[in-house]
Parts: sequence; structure tokens; C-alpha cells
Amino acid sequence: MSNLERRPVLATSADDLPASHSTPELLTARDVDLGDGLPVRRLLPKRGHTTVGPWCFVDHFGPIDARPGLRVPPHPHTSLQTVTWLLEGTVLHRDSLGSEQLIRPGQLNLMTAGPGIAHSEESPPGRPDVLHGVQLWTALPVAAAARPAFEHLAELPTAATRGLRLTVLMGELLGARSPASAYSPVVGADVAAGAATDDDLPLRPDFEHAVLALTGPAVVDGAGIGPGSMAYLPPGRDHVAVRTTGPARLLLLGGAPFGERIIMWWNFVAHTYEELAAAHADWQAGSARFGAVTGYPYGPRLQAPPLPPGRLVPR
Ligand code: MN
Repeated sequence: MSNLERRPVLATSADDLPASHSTPELLTARDVDLGDGLPVRRLLPKRGHTTVGPWCFVDHFGPIDARPGLRVPPHPHTSLQTVTWLLEGTVLHRDSLGSEQLIRPGQLNLMTAGPGIAHSEESPPGRPDVLHGVQLWTALPVAAAARPAFEHLAELPTAATRGLRLTVLMGELLGARSPASAYSPVVGADVAAGAATDDDLPLRPDFEHAVLALTGPAVVDGAGIGPGSMAYLPPGRDHVAVRTTGPARLLLLGGAPFGERIIMWWNFVAHTYEELAAAHADWQAGSARFGAVTGYPYGPRLQAPPLPPGRLVPR
């Protein structure tokens, strides 16, 4: 999915605070309307928390009535990966590499932008009435030199504890390793409780983590979360306690603290303001850098909003 805001806020990790909390910090979502009646809970970026590991963008949408239909016209991305994970519904993805892929619950769509890619997303005909999922981005390190790529992983590795069933989207957890391409140390896992649970998950002490609730309330190391909130866990922990009073779906996101300054604005991640301005100019000029999405049936590609004025050089 895209950041369809017409006046996107510039977020820079230069404003982030050092992590020094012994209990989880509760982060709450900002409600954002993506247009066409698609409200999302935006959990990242947040002031003070641009990134958790390489994760730099977390939108949780639904469950909502998908019958009006999702229509996200072709738009660009740079220096990031889009990670799409659904609990309900279906979405059709098209990109400028020529990919055309339907995604269903339990499958992962991973698109690596590298220097530039474009894609669109739409509700296919005959879809279920309900849409529920997350759109995540990971930031790419400068040195990654990642090329534009699209991966559809129809099956992902799973693991289980006493009370939790895990699906590993990226990285490795409990011996299960996702084949998804990654460019910095990362973990992402769907954590499902089928019933009331009181259990632990192992964490890498060199990673920071966040746990968000996709359904149901849960208590994460003593912090209550529900849809629209997320518990942030700084590095230095080797496990997290997860309690639920019934069925729940959680998302565990983490990684080594990103350590590189990034700028996020609209659908671009950049490492300098000059890089951001060049990406903006190239997209507006129709540069071959982003390629072209073919087959999107609902109109022209998105135009970028004007770059915001003012002092935009990151500190
Ligand atoms: Mn997108």
C-alpha cells in the first residue's frame, strides 16, 4: 500500500531518543485516512521512534468492509522494502518489474525498491467482503546496494511454543528461518494465540523489538496492548512474556537498531535530503528510474505532493 496523504509529514531518525526504558513503552497509533474510505492505524514512524530495527513504517488496516474496493494507483518507492501481510481478504499487486501477484492471508509479498520501483494495489474481482492486514516497510542500509525485486512467498516457516503458533515473515525465530530477502539483521513474526495464553517468546538481546496487536487484547511484559497500540522493547532482553485472555493475533517486529540516519517523506525513504529531492524530481518527470506499472485499470499513476518548504537537511 501507499502513503496517500496529500501533506505527508517529514520524519527523520535524527530526532530519535536513546532507548532507556526497563518496562515496555506503549506507543499508540495515529489514525490516517488513505483515501477511498481506507482508514489505517499508523504505528510507525512516530516522533522519537522512526525505526524499530529496520522497520520504519507500520500501517494496520481493518478489519473493514472491502466491497467498495481498494484502489492504490501506481506510485514509487525508494530505499525500502514493502512487506504485505493479510489476515483477511485478498489484494492484487502489480509492479514495474512486470509482477502481477494476488496475495492471500498467510502469504507474504515482499518488494525491494532499491534505487526505485513503482507498484499498484487493488481489490481483485470476487474478493472476500472483509480486508484486514498490515503494510510494513523496512529501510535499506546505504551499503545494501539492493536491486529492485519482488518476492511472493506462498508458504512461510512456522514454529510453536506451549501456547503460541508463530509464522516467521522475516529473519529467524525459534529455529524457523524465513527465505525472505533481508539487508540488515531483522525479525518479523505473526504470533497467534488460539486461546488464553501465558507464555514466553525468546528475543535476541542485540535487537530492539515492538509487539503490536492485530486482534484481541494482550499483555506484553506487563503492558496492555490492543489494535492501535504497540509495546516497544529496547535492546538487552532475551525474552518477552505474552499473556492473552483468549484468541489473539500479534505481530513481533525487531532488529538491530538501524544506526543510519534516514528521511521518510511520502513514499520515499532517503539517506539525505538531496537524495529525497532527486527521487521526487525523477518521479514527477516520469524518469525510467522507476519503470512503469502496466495493467492498472483504475486511472493514472499518483503524482507526488510538492516537497515541503523550510529547513529540510537532517541533523
Ligand atoms: Mn506502496
